[in-house]
Amino acid sequence: MTTGTQLAFENTFVRDLEGLYLPWTAAPAPEPRLVLLNEGLAGELGLDPAQLRTPEGLGVLTGTAPPEGATPVAQAYAGHQFGNYSPRLGDGRALLIGELVAPSGERRDLHLKGSGRTPFARGGDGKAPLAPMLREYLISEAMHALGVPSTRSLAVVATGEDVMRERGPEPGAVLARTASSHLRVGTFQFAAASSARGTSTSTATGEVEVLRRLADHAIDRHHPAARDAENPYLDLYRRVVAAQADLVARWMHVGFIHGVMNTDNMTISGETIDYGPCAFLDAHDPATWFSSIDHAGRYAYGNQPGIAQWNLARFGEALIPLLADDQDEAIRLATGVLETFADAYHAARDEGYAAKIGTAAAGPLLTDLAALLAEHKPDHTLFFRRLSTAARGDAGPVRELFADPSVLDGWLESWRATDPDAAAMDRVNPAYIPRNHLVEEALAAAVDGDLEPIQWLLFVLGHPYDERDGFERYAQPPGPDAAPFRTFCGT
Ligand code: AMP
Ligand code: MG
Repeated sequence: MTTGTQLAFENTFVRDLEGLYLPWTAAPAPEPRLVLLNEGLAGELGLDPAQLRTPEGLGVLTGTAPPEGATPVAQAYAGHQFGNYSPRLGDGRALLIGELVAPSGERRDLHLKGSGRTPFARGGDGKAPLAPMLREYLISEAMHALGVPSTRSLAVVATGEDVMRERGPEPGAVLARTASSHLRVGTFQFAAASSARGTSTSTATGEVEVLRRLADHAIDRHHPAARDAENPYLDLYRRVVAAQADLVARWMHVGFIHGVMNTDNMTISGETIDYGPCAFLDAHDPATWFSSIDHAGRYAYGNQPGIAQWNLARFGEALIPLLADDQDEAIRLATGVLETFADAYHAARDEGYAAKIGTAAAGPLLTDLAALLAEHKPDHTLFFRRLSTAARGDAGPVRELFADPSVLDGWLESWRATDPDAAAMDRVNPAYIPRNHLVEEALAAAVDGDLEPIQWLLFVLGHPYDERDGFERYAQPPGPDAAPFRTFCGT
Protein backbone atom coordinates (compact mmCIF):
# COMPACT_ATOMS: atom_id res chain seq x y z
CA MET A 1 0.00 0.00 0.00
CA THR A 2 1.39 3.36 -0.94
CA THR A 3 0.41 4.76 2.40
CA GLY A 4 2.79 7.66 2.03
CA THR A 5 0.91 9.02 -0.96
CA GLN A 6 -2.56 7.63 -0.36
CA LEU A 7 -2.76 8.62 3.29
CA ALA A 8 -1.26 12.05 3.29
CA PHE A 9 -1.68 13.12 6.89
CA GLU A 10 -1.41 16.62 8.15
CA ASN A 11 -1.29 17.44 11.81
CA THR A 12 -2.14 21.01 12.68
CA PHE A 13 -2.84 19.88 16.25
CA VAL A 14 0.79 18.75 16.65
CA ARG A 15 2.06 21.80 14.79
CA ASP A 16 0.11 24.35 16.85
CA LEU A 17 -0.36 22.83 20.25
CA GLU A 18 2.89 21.69 21.77
CA GLY A 19 2.24 21.11 25.44
CA LEU A 20 -1.12 19.45 24.83
CA TYR A 21 0.11 16.05 23.67
CA LEU A 22 2.79 13.42 24.01
CA PRO A 23 4.14 11.60 20.94
CA TRP A 24 3.46 7.90 21.45
CA THR A 25 3.31 4.60 19.60
CA ALA A 26 0.63 1.94 19.52
CA ALA A 27 1.00 -1.44 21.18
CA PRO A 28 1.54 -4.41 18.84
CA ALA A 29 -1.51 -6.19 17.44
CA PRO A 30 -0.30 -9.81 17.17
CA GLU A 31 -2.93 -11.04 14.71
CA PRO A 32 -4.95 -8.19 13.26
CA ARG A 33 -8.27 -9.15 11.68
CA LEU A 34 -10.61 -6.64 10.06
CA VAL A 35 -14.08 -6.97 11.60
CA LEU A 36 -15.88 -3.95 10.14
CA LEU A 37 -14.85 -1.46 7.48
CA ASN A 38 -16.96 1.56 6.60
CA GLU A 39 -16.50 1.66 2.85
CA GLY A 40 -18.80 4.65 2.42
CA LEU A 41 -16.82 6.73 4.90
CA ALA A 42 -13.53 5.54 3.42
CA GLY A 43 -14.77 6.82 0.07
CA GLU A 44 -15.75 10.19 1.52
CA LEU A 45 -12.24 10.50 2.94
CA GLY A 46 -10.67 9.64 -0.41
CA LEU A 47 -9.32 6.32 0.91
CA ASP A 48 -9.35 3.08 -1.04
CA PRO A 49 -11.19 0.36 0.93
CA ALA A 50 -9.21 -2.38 -0.86
CA GLN A 51 -5.97 -0.86 0.37
CA LEU A 52 -7.27 -0.54 3.90
CA ARG A 53 -7.89 -4.29 3.86
CA THR A 54 -4.24 -5.12 3.11
CA PRO A 55 -1.74 -5.89 5.92
CA GLU A 56 -0.33 -2.36 5.49
CA GLY A 57 -3.84 -0.94 5.75
CA LEU A 58 -4.46 -2.86 8.98
CA GLY A 59 -1.17 -1.45 10.26
CA VAL A 60 -2.58 2.04 9.77
CA LEU A 61 -5.95 1.13 11.32
CA THR A 62 -4.29 -0.35 14.44
CA GLY A 63 -1.53 2.26 14.66
CA THR A 64 1.17 -0.41 14.50
CA ALA A 65 2.47 0.86 11.15
CA PRO A 66 1.55 4.52 10.92
CA PRO A 67 1.90 6.07 7.50
CA GLU A 68 5.13 7.84 6.72
CA GLY A 69 5.20 11.36 8.03
CA ALA A 70 2.46 10.79 10.63
CA THR A 71 3.18 11.75 14.24
CA PRO A 72 0.86 9.70 16.47
CA VAL A 73 0.18 11.49 19.74
CA ALA A 74 -1.81 10.95 22.92
CA GLN A 75 -3.77 14.12 23.60
CA ALA A 76 -3.80 15.71 27.04
CA TYR A 77 -7.02 16.86 28.65
CA ALA A 78 -8.56 17.37 32.05
CA GLY A 79 -12.21 17.11 32.95
CA HIS A 80 -15.04 17.01 35.41
CA GLN A 81 -16.19 13.40 35.76
CA PHE A 82 -19.57 13.13 37.46
CA GLY A 83 -18.95 16.62 38.80
CA ASN A 84 -15.46 15.96 40.20
CA TYR A 85 -12.45 17.60 38.63
CA SER A 86 -9.51 15.50 37.41
CA PRO A 87 -6.57 17.64 36.31
CA ARG A 88 -5.00 14.96 34.12
CA LEU A 89 -7.11 12.55 32.08
CA GLY A 90 -5.92 12.48 28.48
CA ASP A 91 -5.90 9.67 25.94
CA GLY A 92 -5.13 6.70 28.16
CA ARG A 93 -5.77 4.14 25.44
CA ALA A 94 -6.08 6.20 22.30
CA LEU A 95 -3.91 7.93 19.72
CA LEU A 96 -4.43 10.72 17.24
CA ILE A 97 -2.75 9.50 14.05
CA GLY A 98 -3.22 12.70 12.11
CA GLU A 99 -5.63 14.76 10.05
CA LEU A 100 -6.91 13.69 6.67
CA VAL A 101 -8.10 16.33 4.27
CA ALA A 102 -10.98 14.75 2.35
CA PRO A 103 -11.56 15.47 -1.35
CA SER A 104 -14.38 17.76 -0.16
CA GLY A 105 -11.76 19.85 1.65
CA GLU A 106 -13.06 18.75 5.04
CA ARG A 107 -10.38 18.08 7.65
CA ARG A 108 -10.95 14.94 9.76
CA ASP A 109 -8.91 13.51 12.62
CA LEU A 110 -8.06 9.83 12.36
CA HIS A 111 -8.05 8.57 15.92
CA LEU A 112 -7.59 5.07 17.31
CA LYS A 113 -9.17 3.76 20.48
CA GLY A 114 -7.80 0.64 22.18
CA SER A 115 -4.28 1.09 20.81
CA GLY A 116 -2.43 0.45 24.08
CA ARG A 117 -1.37 2.22 27.27
CA THR A 118 -0.10 5.77 27.06
CA PRO A 119 1.40 7.97 29.80
CA PHE A 120 -2.20 9.08 30.52
CA ALA A 121 -3.41 5.54 31.22
CA ARG A 122 -3.33 5.78 35.03
CA GLY A 123 -4.58 2.35 36.22
CA GLY A 124 -6.05 1.30 32.85
CA ASP A 125 -4.69 -1.39 30.55
CA GLY A 126 -4.89 0.78 27.44
CA LYS A 127 -6.95 -1.84 25.66
CA ALA A 128 -10.52 -2.12 24.43
CA PRO A 129 -12.70 -5.22 24.10
CA LEU A 130 -14.34 -5.94 20.76
CA ALA A 131 -17.99 -5.58 21.81
CA PRO A 132 -17.80 -1.97 23.08
CA MET A 133 -15.83 -0.92 20.00
CA LEU A 134 -18.48 -2.47 17.74
CA ARG A 135 -21.07 -0.71 19.86
CA GLU A 136 -19.43 2.68 19.28
CA TYR A 137 -19.20 1.91 15.55
CA LEU A 138 -22.88 0.96 15.37
CA ILE A 139 -24.28 3.79 17.44
CA SER A 140 -22.09 6.56 16.04
CA GLU A 141 -23.01 5.53 12.49
CA ALA A 142 -26.70 5.35 13.48
CA MET A 143 -26.46 8.87 14.92
CA HIS A 144 -24.87 10.13 11.72
CA ALA A 145 -27.63 8.55 9.63
CA LEU A 146 -30.22 10.14 11.92
CA GLY A 147 -28.69 13.50 11.10
CA VAL A 148 -27.15 14.11 14.52
CA PRO A 149 -23.61 15.56 14.41
CA SER A 150 -21.23 12.83 15.51
CA THR A 151 -17.78 11.36 15.25
CA ARG A 152 -17.78 8.59 12.62
CA SER A 153 -16.41 5.07 12.64
CA LEU A 154 -14.08 3.90 9.91
CA ALA A 155 -13.15 0.42 11.08
CA VAL A 156 -12.93 -2.07 13.89
CA VAL A 157 -9.90 -4.39 13.85
CA ALA A 158 -9.58 -7.27 16.30
CA THR A 159 -6.01 -7.40 17.58
CA GLY A 160 -5.76 -11.14 18.15
CA GLU A 161 -5.11 -10.51 21.83
CA ASP A 162 -7.49 -11.08 24.75
CA VAL A 163 -8.20 -8.33 27.26
CA MET A 164 -9.37 -8.97 30.81
CA ARG A 165 -12.61 -7.45 32.03
CA GLU A 166 -14.96 -8.27 34.93
CA ARG A 167 -16.81 -10.70 32.67
CA GLY A 168 -13.57 -12.60 31.94
CA PRO A 169 -11.24 -12.55 28.93
CA GLU A 170 -12.64 -10.86 25.82
CA PRO A 171 -11.19 -10.37 22.34
CA GLY A 172 -9.34 -7.06 22.08
CA ALA A 173 -9.94 -4.57 19.29
CA VAL A 174 -9.04 -1.14 17.98
CA LEU A 175 -11.68 1.30 16.73
CA ALA A 176 -10.56 3.75 14.06
CA ARG A 177 -12.77 6.78 14.20
CA THR A 178 -12.86 10.16 12.53
CA ALA A 179 -13.91 13.48 13.97
CA SER A 180 -13.84 17.09 12.85
CA SER A 181 -11.45 17.36 15.81
CA HIS A 182 -10.88 15.91 19.25
CA LEU A 183 -10.87 19.29 21.00
CA ARG A 184 -12.91 18.90 24.16
CA VAL A 185 -14.08 21.21 26.93
CA GLY A 186 -11.56 19.21 28.96
CA THR A 187 -8.77 20.21 26.55
CA PHE A 188 -9.46 23.84 27.46
CA GLN A 189 -9.58 22.98 31.14
CA PHE A 190 -6.17 21.32 30.83
CA ALA A 191 -4.73 24.27 28.89
CA ALA A 192 -6.17 26.78 31.36
CA ALA A 193 -4.60 24.93 34.27
CA SER A 194 -1.27 24.60 32.41
CA SER A 195 -1.33 28.29 31.62
CA ALA A 196 -2.05 29.18 35.22
CA ARG A 197 0.91 27.06 36.35
CA GLY A 198 3.11 28.15 33.46
CA THR A 199 3.61 24.50 32.52
CA SER A 200 2.23 22.00 30.08
CA THR A 201 3.10 18.41 29.22
CA SER A 202 6.49 19.45 27.91
CA THR A 203 7.90 22.95 27.82
CA ALA A 204 7.42 25.75 30.32
CA THR A 205 5.51 28.51 28.58
CA GLY A 206 4.23 31.98 29.29
CA GLU A 207 1.11 32.96 31.18
CA VAL A 208 -1.93 32.22 29.00
CA GLU A 209 0.07 31.15 25.97
CA VAL A 210 -1.07 27.51 25.64
CA LEU A 211 -4.66 28.49 26.23
CA ARG A 212 -4.49 31.25 23.63
CA ARG A 213 -2.92 28.93 21.06
CA LEU A 214 -5.65 26.39 21.72
CA ALA A 215 -8.42 28.96 21.35
CA ASP A 216 -6.87 30.28 18.13
CA HIS A 217 -6.59 26.72 16.81
CA ALA A 218 -10.23 26.01 17.71
CA ILE A 219 -11.38 29.19 15.97
CA ASP A 220 -9.44 28.36 12.80
CA ARG A 221 -10.67 24.82 12.78
CA HIS A 222 -14.31 25.13 13.79
CA HIS A 223 -15.53 28.68 14.03
CA PRO A 224 -13.44 30.80 11.63
CA ALA A 225 -16.08 33.54 11.59
CA ALA A 226 -15.20 34.29 15.23
CA ARG A 227 -11.88 35.68 14.03
CA ASP A 228 -13.67 38.80 12.75
CA ALA A 229 -15.65 39.43 15.93
CA GLU A 230 -14.79 42.32 18.24
CA ASN A 231 -13.83 39.77 20.94
CA PRO A 232 -12.96 36.55 19.06
CA TYR A 233 -12.65 34.38 22.18
CA LEU A 234 -15.99 35.51 23.51
CA ASP A 235 -17.46 34.81 20.10
CA LEU A 236 -15.88 31.33 20.12
CA TYR A 237 -17.61 30.73 23.43
CA ARG A 238 -20.93 31.95 22.03
CA ARG A 239 -20.63 29.65 19.02
CA VAL A 240 -19.76 26.58 21.06
CA VAL A 241 -22.69 27.27 23.40
CA ALA A 242 -24.99 27.52 20.37
CA ALA A 243 -23.59 24.34 18.77
CA GLN A 244 -24.01 22.34 21.97
CA ALA A 245 -27.54 23.65 22.56
CA ASP A 246 -28.43 22.47 19.09
CA LEU A 247 -26.71 19.11 19.55
CA VAL A 248 -28.42 18.27 22.83
CA ALA A 249 -31.80 19.24 21.36
CA ARG A 250 -31.17 16.71 18.60
CA TRP A 251 -30.31 14.04 21.16
CA MET A 252 -33.61 14.72 22.87
CA HIS A 253 -35.56 14.47 19.61
CA VAL A 254 -34.24 11.00 18.83
CA GLY A 255 -34.23 9.77 22.45
CA PHE A 256 -30.46 9.45 22.80
CA ILE A 257 -28.90 9.25 26.26
CA HIS A 258 -25.15 9.87 26.19
CA GLY A 259 -24.66 8.38 29.63
CA VAL A 260 -21.32 9.96 30.51
CA MET A 261 -21.53 13.68 29.81
CA ASN A 262 -18.29 14.52 31.57
CA THR A 263 -16.57 17.70 30.35
CA ASP A 264 -13.88 15.59 28.67
CA ASN A 265 -16.61 13.98 26.57
CA MET A 266 -17.98 17.28 25.21
CA THR A 267 -16.56 18.63 21.96
CA ILE A 268 -15.84 22.17 20.80
CA SER A 269 -17.03 21.18 17.30
CA GLY A 270 -20.55 20.29 18.42
CA GLU A 271 -20.19 16.61 17.45
CA THR A 272 -21.30 13.81 19.76
CA ILE A 273 -18.21 12.00 21.04
CA ASP A 274 -17.23 8.99 23.17
CA TYR A 275 -19.92 6.37 22.93
CA GLY A 276 -19.53 4.40 26.11
CA PRO A 277 -22.58 3.58 28.22
CA CYS A 278 -24.91 5.46 25.85
CA ALA A 279 -28.29 4.05 24.78
CA PHE A 280 -31.61 5.11 23.26
CA LEU A 281 -34.68 5.15 25.43
CA ASP A 282 -37.74 3.11 24.56
CA ALA A 283 -40.48 4.50 26.85
CA HIS A 284 -40.45 8.29 26.97
CA ASP A 285 -39.48 8.71 30.61
CA PRO A 286 -37.31 11.76 31.37
CA ALA A 287 -35.80 9.94 34.37
CA THR A 288 -34.38 7.13 32.18
CA TRP A 289 -30.70 6.32 32.64
CA PHE A 290 -28.85 3.17 31.66
CA SER A 291 -25.28 3.41 32.86
CA SER A 292 -24.42 1.12 35.74
CA ILE A 293 -21.95 3.70 37.11
CA ASP A 294 -24.45 6.59 37.03
CA HIS A 295 -26.00 5.65 40.37
CA ALA A 296 -27.71 8.98 40.92
CA GLY A 297 -29.02 9.28 37.38
CA ARG A 298 -26.98 12.47 36.95
CA TYR A 299 -26.91 11.91 33.18
CA ALA A 300 -30.54 10.78 32.80
CA TYR A 301 -32.37 11.66 29.55
CA GLY A 302 -34.19 14.66 30.96
CA ASN A 303 -31.10 16.03 32.73
CA GLN A 304 -29.00 16.34 29.57
CA PRO A 305 -29.77 19.98 28.71
CA GLY A 306 -28.98 21.11 32.25
CA ILE A 307 -25.76 19.09 32.30
CA ALA A 308 -24.71 20.54 28.94
CA GLN A 309 -25.15 24.02 30.41
CA TRP A 310 -23.17 23.04 33.50
CA ASN A 311 -20.32 21.75 31.30
CA LEU A 312 -20.41 24.93 29.23
CA ALA A 313 -20.03 26.94 32.45
CA ARG A 314 -16.80 25.01 33.05
CA PHE A 315 -15.74 25.88 29.48
CA GLY A 316 -16.45 29.56 30.18
CA GLU A 317 -14.34 29.41 33.34
CA ALA A 318 -11.42 27.99 31.34
CA LEU A 319 -11.71 30.85 28.84
CA ILE A 320 -11.79 33.65 31.47
CA PRO A 321 -8.12 34.69 31.08
CA LEU A 322 -8.73 35.32 27.36
CA LEU A 323 -11.99 37.23 27.58
CA ALA A 324 -10.87 40.51 29.16
CA ASP A 325 -7.91 41.97 31.07
CA ASP A 326 -10.12 42.60 34.06
CA GLN A 327 -11.32 39.36 35.62
CA ASP A 328 -14.67 40.73 36.82
CA GLU A 329 -15.37 42.00 33.33
CA ALA A 330 -14.37 38.60 31.88
CA ILE A 331 -16.77 36.84 34.23
CA ARG A 332 -19.55 39.27 33.35
CA LEU A 333 -19.02 38.62 29.63
CA ALA A 334 -18.90 34.84 30.05
CA THR A 335 -22.04 34.83 32.17
CA GLY A 336 -23.88 36.80 29.51
CA VAL A 337 -23.01 34.16 26.91
CA LEU A 338 -23.82 31.23 29.16
CA GLU A 339 -27.26 32.72 29.75
CA THR A 340 -27.99 32.39 26.01
CA PHE A 341 -27.89 28.59 26.35
CA ALA A 342 -31.44 28.21 27.68
CA ASP A 343 -33.05 30.23 24.87
CA ALA A 344 -30.91 28.56 22.22
CA TYR A 345 -31.76 25.12 23.56
CA HIS A 346 -35.48 25.83 23.84
CA ALA A 347 -35.60 27.25 20.32
CA ALA A 348 -33.81 24.20 18.87
CA ARG A 349 -35.91 21.80 20.93
CA ASP A 350 -39.20 23.39 19.89
CA GLU A 351 -38.23 23.68 16.25
CA GLY A 352 -37.41 19.98 16.14
CA TYR A 353 -40.52 18.88 18.01
CA ALA A 354 -42.70 21.10 15.81
CA ALA A 355 -41.24 19.30 12.79
CA LYS A 356 -41.83 15.95 14.48
CA ILE A 357 -45.53 16.73 14.86
CA GLY A 358 -45.67 18.13 11.34
CA THR A 359 -46.88 21.60 12.10
CA ALA A 360 -45.47 25.09 12.38
CA ALA A 361 -48.31 26.29 14.62
CA ALA A 362 -46.94 24.38 17.58
CA GLY A 363 -46.95 26.68 20.67
CA PRO A 364 -48.98 25.18 23.54
CA LEU A 365 -49.33 21.90 21.62
CA LEU A 366 -45.68 21.19 22.40
CA THR A 367 -45.97 22.00 26.08
CA ASP A 368 -49.05 19.82 26.41
CA LEU A 369 -47.41 17.00 24.48
CA ALA A 370 -44.28 17.08 26.65
CA ALA A 371 -46.46 16.72 29.76
CA LEU A 372 -48.51 13.94 28.17
CA LEU A 373 -45.45 11.92 27.12
CA ALA A 374 -43.72 12.34 30.49
CA GLU A 375 -46.84 11.21 32.34
CA HIS A 376 -47.88 8.25 30.18
CA LYS A 377 -44.45 7.19 28.83
CA PRO A 378 -45.34 5.66 25.46
CA ASP A 379 -42.49 4.35 23.29
CA HIS A 380 -40.77 7.55 22.15
CA THR A 381 -39.86 6.44 18.63
CA LEU A 382 -43.12 4.65 17.85
CA PHE A 383 -45.18 7.55 19.18
CA PHE A 384 -43.79 10.03 16.66
CA ARG A 385 -43.57 7.54 13.81
CA ARG A 386 -47.20 6.47 14.25
CA LEU A 387 -48.42 10.02 14.62
CA SER A 388 -48.13 10.46 10.85
CA THR A 389 -50.66 7.64 10.45
CA ALA A 390 -52.96 9.69 12.69
CA ALA A 391 -52.32 12.70 10.44
CA ARG A 392 -53.49 10.52 7.55
CA GLY A 393 -56.71 9.79 9.43
CA ASP A 394 -56.05 6.62 11.47
CA ALA A 395 -55.28 7.37 15.13
CA GLY A 396 -55.54 3.67 16.08
CA PRO A 397 -51.82 2.75 16.00
CA VAL A 398 -50.68 5.74 18.07
CA ARG A 399 -53.53 5.41 20.59
CA GLU A 400 -52.52 1.76 21.14
CA LEU A 401 -49.29 2.96 22.75
CA PHE A 402 -51.23 4.23 25.78
CA ALA A 403 -52.72 2.07 28.54
CA ASP A 404 -55.73 4.36 28.46
CA PRO A 405 -55.85 5.67 24.88
CA SER A 406 -58.47 8.28 25.74
CA VAL A 407 -55.83 10.41 27.51
CA LEU A 408 -54.48 11.30 24.07
CA ASP A 409 -57.72 12.32 22.39
CA GLY A 410 -57.95 15.94 23.51
CA TRP A 411 -54.44 16.61 22.31
CA LEU A 412 -54.99 14.74 19.03
CA GLU A 413 -58.01 16.87 18.29
CA SER A 414 -56.18 20.20 18.80
CA TRP A 415 -53.21 18.91 16.83
CA ARG A 416 -55.27 17.68 13.86
CA ALA A 417 -56.84 21.12 13.62
CA THR A 418 -53.40 22.45 12.56
CA ASP A 419 -53.50 20.24 9.43
CA PRO A 420 -50.19 18.39 10.06
CA ASP A 421 -48.03 17.32 7.12
CA ALA A 422 -47.71 13.51 7.33
CA ALA A 423 -45.05 13.15 4.63
CA ALA A 424 -42.85 15.77 6.28
CA MET A 425 -43.24 13.93 9.60
CA ASP A 426 -42.01 10.67 8.08
CA ARG A 427 -38.84 12.43 6.99
CA VAL A 428 -37.92 13.48 10.55
CA ASN A 429 -39.32 10.68 12.73
CA PRO A 430 -37.13 7.58 12.42
CA ALA A 431 -38.73 4.16 12.09
CA TYR A 432 -35.51 2.57 13.32
CA ILE A 433 -33.18 3.46 16.16
CA PRO A 434 -30.51 1.23 17.73
CA ARG A 435 -32.88 -0.61 20.08
CA ASN A 436 -30.91 -1.95 23.05
CA HIS A 437 -32.06 -5.53 22.71
CA LEU A 438 -31.14 -5.61 19.01
CA VAL A 439 -27.75 -4.04 19.66
CA GLU A 440 -26.93 -6.53 22.42
CA GLU A 441 -28.04 -9.46 20.27
CA ALA A 442 -25.90 -8.28 17.33
CA LEU A 443 -22.83 -7.68 19.50
CA ALA A 444 -23.07 -11.07 21.17
CA ALA A 445 -23.26 -12.77 17.75
CA ALA A 446 -20.32 -10.71 16.44
CA VAL A 447 -18.12 -11.66 19.39
CA ASP A 448 -19.03 -15.29 18.62
CA GLY A 449 -17.86 -14.78 15.06
CA ASP A 450 -21.23 -14.25 13.35
CA LEU A 451 -21.24 -10.80 11.77
CA GLU A 452 -24.53 -11.17 9.94
CA PRO A 453 -26.79 -9.62 12.62
CA ILE A 454 -24.60 -6.54 13.00
CA GLN A 455 -24.37 -6.13 9.23
CA TRP A 456 -28.17 -6.19 8.95
CA LEU A 457 -28.53 -3.78 11.82
CA LEU A 458 -26.01 -1.41 10.24
CA PHE A 459 -27.95 -1.64 6.98
CA VAL A 460 -31.30 -0.81 8.61
CA LEU A 461 -29.87 1.95 10.78
CA GLY A 462 -28.14 3.47 7.78
CA HIS A 463 -31.56 4.51 6.45
CA PRO A 464 -33.57 5.11 9.61
CA TYR A 465 -36.39 7.06 7.97
CA ASP A 466 -37.11 4.49 5.23
CA GLU A 467 -39.55 1.89 6.51
CA ARG A 468 -39.01 -1.43 4.76
CA ASP A 469 -41.21 -4.48 4.42
CA GLY A 470 -39.72 -7.47 6.19
CA PHE A 471 -37.89 -5.35 8.78
CA GLU A 472 -40.76 -4.92 11.25
CA ARG A 473 -38.76 -6.59 14.01
CA TYR A 474 -36.19 -3.79 13.91
CA ALA A 475 -38.85 -1.19 14.73
CA GLN A 476 -40.19 -3.00 17.77
CA PRO A 477 -39.41 -2.12 21.40
CA PRO A 478 -38.33 -4.95 23.72
CA GLY A 479 -41.10 -7.22 24.93
CA PRO A 480 -42.93 -6.51 28.20
CA ASP A 481 -40.93 -9.11 30.13
CA ALA A 482 -37.50 -7.88 29.02
CA ALA A 483 -35.08 -7.37 31.91
CA PRO A 484 -34.25 -3.73 32.74
CA PHE A 485 -31.42 -2.68 30.45
CA ARG A 486 -28.07 -1.50 31.85
CA THR A 487 -24.90 -0.39 30.09
CA PHE A 488 -21.46 -0.94 31.56
CA CYS A 489 -18.51 1.38 31.59
CA GLY A 490 -15.99 -1.46 31.80
CA THR A 491 -15.18 -0.82 28.18
P1 AMP B 1 -14.15 7.77 29.12
O1 AMP B 1 -15.00 7.94 30.33
O2 AMP B 1 -14.25 6.44 28.45
O3 AMP B 1 -14.31 8.90 28.17
O4 AMP B 1 -12.63 7.78 29.62
C1 AMP B 1 -12.17 8.59 30.66
C2 AMP B 1 -10.67 8.49 30.79
O5 AMP B 1 -10.27 7.16 31.10
C3 AMP B 1 -9.90 8.87 29.55
O6 AMP B 1 -8.73 9.52 29.99
C4 AMP B 1 -9.58 7.53 28.92
O7 AMP B 1 -8.45 7.57 28.08
C5 AMP B 1 -9.31 6.68 30.16
N1 AMP B 1 -9.51 5.25 29.94
C6 AMP B 1 -10.69 4.58 29.79
N2 AMP B 1 -10.48 3.26 29.64
C7 AMP B 1 -9.14 3.06 29.69
C8 AMP B 1 -8.28 1.91 29.61
N3 AMP B 1 -8.76 0.68 29.43
N4 AMP B 1 -6.95 2.11 29.72
C9 AMP B 1 -6.43 3.34 29.90
N5 AMP B 1 -7.17 4.45 29.99
C10 AMP B 1 -8.51 4.33 29.88
MG1 MG C 1 -13.85 10.06 26.96
